[in-house]
Amino acid sequence: MGATSVALHAKTDALHTKAAALDAADPLAKRRELFALDDGAVYLDGNSLGALPRHVPARMADVIGREWGELRIRSWDESGWWTAPERIGDRIAPLVGAAPGQVVVGDSTSVNVFKALVAAVRLVGDDSRDEIVVDATTFPTDGYIAESAARMTGRRIVPVAPGDVAAAVGPRTAAALVNHVDYRTGRLHDLPGITAAVRDAGALAVWDLCHSAGALPVGLDAHGVDLAVGCTYKYLNGGPGSPAYLYVAERHQAGFDSPLPGWNSHADPFAMTPGYAAADGARRGRVGTPDILSMRALEAALEVWDGVAMEDVRAKSLALTDFFLECVEAYVPEGVVTSLTPAAHAERGSQVALACADAPAVMEELIARGVVGDLRRPDVLRFGFTPLYVGFADTERAARVLAEVCAQVRPGR
Ligand SMILES: *Cc1c(COP(=O)(O)O)cnc(C)c1O
Repeated sequence: MGATSVALHAKTDALHTKAAALDAADPLAKRRELFALDDGAVYLDGNSLGALPRHVPARMADVIGREWGELRIRSWDESGWWTAPERIGDRIAPLVGAAPGQVVVGDSTSVNVFKALVAAVRLVGDDSRDEIVVDATTFPTDGYIAESAARMTGRRIVPVAPGDVAAAVGPRTAAALVNHVDYRTGRLHDLPGITAAVRDAGALAVWDLCHSAGALPVGLDAHGVDLAVGCTYKYLNGGPGSPAYLYVAERHQAGFDSPLPGWNSHADPFAMTPGYAAADGARRGRVGTPDILSMRALEAALEVWDGVAMEDVRAKSLALTDFFLECVEAYVPEGVVTSLTPAAHAERGSQVALACADAPAVMEELIARGVVGDLRRPDVLRFGFTPLYVGFADTERAARVLAEVCAQVRPGR
């Protein structure tokens, strides 16, 4: 054995020992058993599609076989189908720091961004406020939808980096749409500070929580957020294409004028009257008939959060990302990858993004070796850390395999 390999073995031993100690002390370690995962893979893509909670397939067999197959139309009442959007909204509410009655589930995040932004402009109701400030680094769909919402409401888009939103809002701002965590870099933005600045400017703060809900405490009520949206198939494990949610702070519900006032949001939907009259409360955010199969899968999946404190999730998330960065630094030769994820905890979400010259080839080989992250073209390797089912030994293994793959893809580096 050469000197380098002796040194590598010593490092590997030390990090293995550390991983074992961290796993042994982890209060969330047992949650992993609730998920369908195989030991052959390290799943670091739960920020794209959360893993399946094991109990969901049997629940869905009952929903399909009994609720649909036997009860048929009766299930709208007897199986609670009709009220599912508000009921499941109330299950998500504590995970994002909202009191009951303010979250409704349905449609995609994209559609909810549209509802929230148009409704925000209407709530402000002041034509001299002709600007919508939008996170310039946003996930594309939010930007596309915001642009259309602006055109429809006669506003113009002002793209601003989240760090500059507080300085950019003023008497012309109607609303600001910001992502809590940047989907690409994993940067966590200052929700309390930005919300306060937007509201001080007389505008409404609309947050996209896709990459924060289920990974860290959000505190919608505590921080005075006006409107928020998020998806449920990432950290909330609701399943592929599971419905998104919309938060409308209680103080705005009476004035919430949906741009998509479908019959499900009517005060008396079964009166089938020609004129529209909006329902009270979060139900005002509904549109059409809910996608019950996806809703029921989501509802069942949310049981994995029972008894979980989001503070514990956050603490583990930061410990996992710290440990991953430590292992990457120990194993991967300097200069091969560069972390885009902020070192400061206050600015870090629950993923690590590494810039890497050969990112496409590296990710392909990582996946072939059972370390599943994803690629954000052209050069970003993204690793999502989902505290309910990723452990510290997984994390050490992912970094070690990354180092092996980098050495193979770029020999001599
Ligand atoms: C995942 C994600 C979306 C997804 O939108 P869909 O309408 O559910 O496809 C939107 N915005 C952000 C910030 C996301 O991370």
